[in-house]
Formats: sequence, C-alpha cells, structure tokens
Amino acid sequence: MNMKQIIHQLIPQATVTCNESLQPYTYTRTGGPAEILIKPSTYEDIEKIVIFASSHKIPLTILGNGSNVIVRDGGIKGIVLLLTTLQEIKKEDDKIIAQAGVPIIEVSRYALDQGLTGLEFCCGVPGTVGGAIFMNAGCYGGEMRDVVESVLVINSEGVLQRLTNDMLEFDYRKSCISKHNYIVLEAVFQLRPGIKLEIERKMEELTRLREEKQPLEFPSCGSVFKRPPGHFAGQLIQESGLKGEMIGGVQVSTKHAGFMVNVNEGTATDYIRLIERVKTKVHEKFNISLEPEVRIIGESLEEQI
Ligand SMILES: Cc1cc2nc3c(=O)[nH]c(=O)nc-3n(C[C@H](O)[C@H](O)[C@H](O)COP(=O)(O)OP(=O)(O)OC[C@H]3O[C@@H](n4cnc5c(N)ncnc54)[C@H](O)[C@@H]3O)c2cc1C
Repeated sequence: MNMKQIIHQLIPQATVTCNESLQPYTYTRTGGPAEILIKPSTYEDIEKIVIFASSHKIPLTILGNGSNVIVRDGGIKGIVLLLTTLQEIKKEDDKIIAQAGVPIIEVSRYALDQGLTGLEFCCGVPGTVGGAIFMNAGCYGGEMRDVVESVLVINSEGVLQRLTNDMLEFDYRKSCISKHNYIVLEAVFQLRPGIKLEIERKMEELTRLREEKQPLEFPSCGSVFKRPPGHFAGQLIQESGLKGEMIGGVQVSTKHAGFMVNVNEGTATDYIRLIERVKTKVHEKFNISLEPEVRIIGESLEEQI
C-alpha cells in the first residue's frame, strides 16, 4: 500500500491528494505542490494524522488560508494539513467559539450580527482563526491577544489541550503555537455587547481605509515585513527607491511599498529574490534589518535536484 492508501484507510472521510499544486491555496498564487494534501473534517482525523506522522517521522505542515505564507517552488515534503474545512462557529453569551478554519473576517461579521463588539479591527484580515492565533494577527490598534479567551490545540503527540490567553505568549506577530508545534483547533473570543450600527460603521470605515491604502486587486501576502521598532517597513522601502521594483512577475507595490504583488505569473522564487533585494537595499541605506512577517516554507527547486 502506498502512503495515500494508508492515510485513506486511517481517515476515510477526509480528502487526500498527492502532488497537488498549492498555488490555489496561497494568497500569492505561487508555490509548488504538496506531496500529500489532506483536508480533514473532524478533530479525530487530525489527531490520527498527527500520531501517524509523528510515529513515521513524516513532516507535517499546517495551512489555513495561505495569506501569510510563501511556499517555495519545490513544494512541501510530507503531509500538508489544510484546515479550512473546519468551519463551525457558535455564540455562547458574550463569547464566540470558532473552529480553526473559519475566516477571521467571517468571525467579525458574525460578531456584528450578534451585536458583539471587539472584533471590528480584523474585519479585513484574510486569514483563518488558526492562522490569526498563530500570528497574533492585528491591525488598526487591535490584535488577537485582546480578544482571545482560550484556544483548543492538539500537540505533536496528538493530545488535546486548552490554553488560556496568558499561556499563549502573544507578542508582536507571534504566539507560542510555533514554538511547541501546536495545531489550533478552535478559539474562544471574549467580546462585549455593543450597538450594531456602531460596530458596522467602524467595520465600514476600516474597510474603506484598507481599500484606499492596500493593493487588494492583486495577489499578495499582505505586509511582507514586520514593523522595525520606531519605523514603518513600507516607508523605508519607499525611501530606498524600491516602489515598483520588479523581479520576474512580482513587484514592490506602487500603491503600498510594504506589499509585494504578483502582477504577472510570478513565482515563489521571484518573491524570495525580491525580498532579499529589498532587505539588502534597505540595510545599505538605513542600516536597518527588515525581518519578514510572511512565513517562507517548503523546498526550493534546487534542493530537489
Ligand atoms: C491582503 C492582505 C492583508 C493582510 N492584512 C493583515 C493585517 O492587517 N494584519 C495581520 O496581522 N495580517 C495581515 N495579513 C496576513 C495574514 O492574513 C495573517 O497573518 C493571517 O492571520 C494568516 O492566517 P492564514 O489562515 O492565512 O494562515 P496561513 O498563511 O495559512 O499560515 C500562516 C502560519 O500559521 C500557521 N497556521 C495556520 N493555521 C494554523 C493552525 N490552525 N494551527 C497551527 N498553525 C497554523 C501556518 O503553519 C503558517 O506558519 C494580510 C494578508 C493579506 C494577503
């Protein structure tokens, strides 16, 4: 039996494919294939896969909406678990409980429908609940740390654990999820009763700001770099004369220099080379080292030869 057949026997309800391109699953629309791509439908499926992968020493990679990753053009070895199939969401008093694959935009809209305030800030962040917790996603003065009460995770031995806010070690664009290789299964958001009209107005205002400033008409991974202390990455890039700089089909956005947009069938290699060029030029001009916010994962094509 090959690996696909073994996995199918283990979790018959899940969708399993081999060598499927990950381009449609990433916001940059770049990257190579997943050796094995699994779309699990239950926590039990995930538990079985985690135990199977760890006992056979098969690398396991988690993907949400792919809005903060660049998958190298050689693709990802081992198993990729795509968690966008976990879509349940419910309300309990002033809390919202959402599974890892629910888009955080949907959670903020659901909060609006329920008249709950606190999640307006992330009404335009295109990630999933899992990716947002992993990254401590934030903008416009808010971040996940402010609204997450607890998170249900599975550890690399396949054991479920509930982590409270203080255990998540939230910091600027990070949490303890990566350090311990946890997989986020669901999150509980603690919100407050609010006035629907006010919540809606705030979301509309933030959406307007985003549409005005960000090149949302092209594939991208959002802000490529973290904010260096005391500076804005986009401004440093712009002042280094890099707006519109292009490698292959990927360009430093002419609308917002903190973004790199895929304007003409660019590849992950184009992205990575452009990131390196921008880092070098900004360092030469300002002596500041930009650190990517986007996660670069997988194998480069050369490594496969
Ligand atoms: C146009 C645009 C605008 C953006 N604006 C913002 C913004 O304002 N603020 C902001 O913070 N970010 C922003 N981002 C970046 C991105 O949307 C966030 O980082 C988001 O939280 C990533 O979620 P995701 O589901 O897409 O994660 P992915 O890109 O799929 O994964 C990101 C990382 O999280 C891990 N991961 C994903 N799901 C899980 C899980 N369930 N368990 C464990 N690990 C997991 C992955 O392994 C990977 O390392 C933007 C991106 C785009 C394209």
